Amino acid sequence: MRPFIEVGDVSFWYETDPPPKDQWVLKEVQLTVARGEYVAIMGPNGSGKSTLARLMNGLLLPKEGKVRIGGYNTDDETHLWQVRQRVGMVFQNPDNQLVATTVRDEIAFGMENLGVPREEMVRRIPEVLAQVGLEGMEEWPPHLLSGGQKQRLAIAAVLAMRPEAIVLDEATSMLDPAGRQAVLDILHRMHREGMTIIHITHSAKEAAHAERLLIMADGEVKMDGTPEEVFQDVDRLSVWRLEVPLMAELHHRLTRSGFDLPVSWTET
Ligand code: ADP
Repeated sequence: MRPFIEVGDVSFWYETDPPPKDQWVLKEVQLTVARGEYVAIMGPNGSGKSTLARLMNGLLLPKEGKVRIGGYNTDDETHLWQVRQRVGMVFQNPDNQLVATTVRDEIAFGMENLGVPREEMVRRIPEVLAQVGLEGMEEWPPHLLSGGQKQRLAIAAVLAMRPEAIVLDEATSMLDPAGRQAVLDILHRMHREGMTIIHITHSAKEAAHAERLLIMADGEVKMDGTPEEVFQDVDRLSVWRLEVPLMAELHHRLTRSGFDLPVSWTET
């Protein structure tokens, strides 16, 4: 395994002085994400998922421990831009992340910050728009796009910066089913092309598409395995009231009622 994101014993709190440990937002989190891995993260509200996401691209720095991205510590100021550029972020509400008056300028914005030469920017804009299915929409004002199109534009703006990983923080939760599916299709394609994906979601269906599923609660990673393994433990997941795939729920109930089923819910 080639580690790309290394979260080493990371603790975090938002106050200046450390509160009592039971109030820390993240408690000694230990986590390695390999290059090219597709990881989903589920967990109740307030469990620290967004905070972890922001630590993974240097938007926040750990209070204790280290986060390394592609070998660079995120608190190493001389490499802050490399770190930010390597891990793109897409947030829940696209209206809060779109700043420009045209689709073209929206995509150019991040590249300008990175100092990408103009000719290269001109080449990349249609390329990333095609990747997210918004070809030919350069002149559109972002506020006229649908919610799903806005989120795809936010993804295109991230892709234009050529990141190696993309972190989606509930990026599909405000979209309709078609909008969600379009974003998932883009994620799958990017993953096939080698991108590292970290997808924070409340949707069991979306999480089931990942290669690996982490469950966060109380500032800790409580479960870490394939979606098949994690969703097998319906009793444990019910403690945090997390959604599980319908088949996992059904398998659990029927097994408890004495039906003789295959061990794994995925074979039911
Ligand atoms: P999640 O994404 O799992 O809902 P968050 O990381 O957003 O969890 O929040 C974890 C905890 O940190 C919550 O108790 C939340 O209230 C607190 N928190 C999040 N952001 C801030 C902030 N900017 N300032 C102070 N507290 C915050």
